[in-house]
Amino acid sequence: MSVLIVGSIALDTVKTPVEEHADLLGGSASYSAVGASFFSPVNLVGVVGDDFPKEHIEYLKSRRIDLDGLQIVPGKTFRWSGEYMWDLNTRETRSVELNVFEHFTPTLPANYANAPYVLLANIAPKLQSHVLDQMSRPKFVIADTMDLWISIAKEDLTALLKRVDMLILNDGEARQFTGETSLIKAGAKIRSLGPKYVAIKKGEHGCLLFGEKEFFSCGAYPLEDIHDPTGAGDTFAGGLAGYLSANDNGPVSFETLRRAVVYGSVLASYNVEAFSLERLRTLTQSDIDARYGAFRTMSQFELI
Ligand code: AMP
Repeated sequence: MSVLIVGSIALDTVKTPVEEHADLLGGSASYSAVGASFFSPVNLVGVVGDDFPKEHIEYLKSRRIDLDGLQIVPGKTFRWSGEYMWDLNTRETRSVELNVFEHFTPTLPANYANAPYVLLANIAPKLQSHVLDQMSRPKFVIADTMDLWISIAKEDLTALLKRVDMLILNDGEARQFTGETSLIKAGAKIRSLGPKYVAIKKGEHGCLLFGEKEFFSCGAYPLEDIHDPTGAGDTFAGGLAGYLSANDNGPVSFETLRRAVVYGSVLASYNVEAFSLERLRTLTQSDIDARYGAFRTMSQFELI
């Protein structure tokens, strides 16, 4: 069963305090789709310009990512450039060139409309809603977002929330969206707007998962060297969605979601070890299993 993913596909320029690389494969959909592909086939919906390198298309195809929903249109691919400060946590956007993204309307091929699992990776909430308009009722819809949409499209985002099963956002965005300093209150407030589940990512401090009465706190892998944090959140969301799609046994349970959150965290932790999607290119199932085991060991303690 394939998971449907829509989002941005970009050529990124990323600067950290020690390195700078230009024209890297990036975008929320690229990271999410490759993350999900470790568990499940993917149907990708997005847009690129005619300057988009063929090698990236070949790479995505090689990962079981179906590209029938990828529009290749005349013009330049979306470009984003960001710079990380010394803590590798604070990031400034240096430039954004929307290019072909400016007039993008996601259009689903007919055979994508029945996908049971959907990840609306980070793009404008109106476009995320437009994808759902073209679908028969999916089983589980996950939406990701960013501070930009909370600032300029809060109404659209709030409307979208009524149609999704799970929202993923980071701690700063959860506080910005709800006006709550407490992430526990923020999680509950977002749940009251629609999604049954909310995942709040805390960067190097892991992630909180909220359900109706359930709560789960997942740590982060203690990495010594982070090379490029870009796309960690997208890889997390992709891994989570791919795991759910590959383990579809009846209604999605909190137990399955907990495992999905850990797998998402495993993939995100690998992704930041190198620029762009480089680390994911060489990642193996046994790497994933080993780090899943490490997460488990790190979170266990004895009964008294
Ligand atoms: P993250 O590090 O999870 O925030 O994701 C970074 C990715 O988001 C980069 O690869 C960018 O190309 C992409 N991106 C940046 N701004 C936007 C935007 N406004 N809409 C969609 N994707 C974006």
